[in-house]
Amino acid sequence: MTETNRWSSCRMESLERIYGYLDGELGPEACQAIEAHLRDCEECSDEYQIESMLKELVRRSCNCDVAPEGLADRIRARITVERTQIHWQG
Ligand SMILES: [Zn+2]
Repeated sequence: MTETNRWSSCRMESLERIYGYLDGELGPEACQAIEAHLRDCEECSDEYQIESMLKELVRRSCNCDVAPEGLADRIRARITVERTQIHWQG
């Protein structure tokens, strides 16, 4: 239980910064900080990979940077399901 809580709070705290980082909204110092954290923290690194994949898929599927809200949610749900299945198989 404690492990789960710690995992979630780290992820929640980092998620907004990860979004900002992907969107190029962070300054150089904030970018370095998050890059360092992504190297150290497997959970946030996973989250970053999902979000960057999501961004790439959205860009390819609708040719724009900002996804319609429903589309982003569907892709994110799909990635999460596939990742979970991979974990179970492995
Ligand atoms: Zn983290």
